[in-house]
Amino acid sequence: MSSEVILVVEDEPALQETLAYNLEKEGYSVEVAGDGRSALDAARRLQPDLILLDIMLPEMDGFEVCRILRKETNSPILMLTARDDEIDRVVGLEVGADDYLTKPFSMRELLARVKAQFRRSRLLREEMAKVKEETPEQEALAFDNLVINITRREVTLGGDPLQMKPKEYELLVYLARHRGQMLSRELILERVWGWDYIGDSRTVDVHIRWLRQKVESDPANPLRIVTVRGGGYRFEG
Ligand code: CA
Repeated sequence: MSSEVILVVEDEPALQETLAYNLEKEGYSVEVAGDGRSALDAARRLQPDLILLDIMLPEMDGFEVCRILRKETNSPILMLTARDDEIDRVVGLEVGADDYLTKPFSMRELLARVKAQFRRSRLLREEMAKVKEETPEQEALAFDNLVINITRREVTLGGDPLQMKPKEYELLVYLARHRGQMLSRELILERVWGWDYIGDSRTVDVHIRWLRQKVESDPANPLRIVTVRGGGYRFEG
């Protein structure tokens, strides 16, 4: 039996107990922490597969805990918020939680969100294992008239340098190194933007659009960066 470990960080004893009880009933191993500092200790010690994190906590609030943990772990963090004005910060760039639930919430809703996070991590892990780097690290990648000079961080098209934002460049290099492979938006977001960025895969679409305007001769009918039905992109060269 797979027993994923969930760390429940909640200072209200009744809710802590209810959460632990219901998650254990679903077959998860549950550990609890009642304040921010012990949450950090527990997360480092247990390496949980998912962290359920309340915001209003003694010692150190959930925002701070999340910010620190985000630098140390890829495990999904699901935040529990009590106030509407917390939601903006949770979903904003600064904290980096994967999802949130507003109190009060039903156990059924909570379990659905937990399962969704595990499903997402599993899919991402499977895709990562499948996707291989086509082109090893090298100084330059050339595709017909498109040349990416890695050493100089410069891209030229027909010999003319292209102006690129840092993320456009990184995205292009990531795509180019995985030429011919379908890459999902989620994987691209995770690999190019990393976990500092709270996921909205439309960010990927926007950057792809910008890139196409630079590297495609007809951006409306892209030949280099093609859209793959079923949610991703493939670099053709
Ligand atoms: Ca609380």
